[in-house]
Amino acid sequence: MTYVGRFVIIKTGDFMDCKETERRISRFLANDLTGRELIQFIEHVEGCESCKEELTIQYLSSEGIARLEEGKTFDLDRELTEYMHTTVRKYKLRRKIRFGILVLEILAILIIAGVFAYALL
Ligand SMILES: [Zn+2]
Repeated sequence: MTYVGRFVIIKTGDFMDCKETERRISRFLANDLTGRELIQFIEHVEGCESCKEELTIQYLSSEGIARLEEGKTFDLDRELTEYMHTTVRKYKLRRKIRFGILVLEILAILIIAGVFAYALL
């Protein structure tokens, strides 16, 4: 298992390679990675120094420079970690919402079935 802060990520099994990970950095920063891709990406970056470094550099050039131009202080490491946490949190939330909808659908079907059964009695 991989720990990203207090978030535990279940290993997906297949480890994304460095080339693939580097290709996905820009998509990650554009918030465009979802599901399995996102988890694989985070897993790789957490375990690979050179990809983490590449991500940090790209994060700095996309977020940091804009922030520094605004004259704000910028804690690169902390903000990148925060960004990674937020992305994982959003992913988990989306998954939870999807599960919630599924449960509601099943409940609705059961209620409708129950009403029909009652009406037939
Ligand atoms: Zn790597």
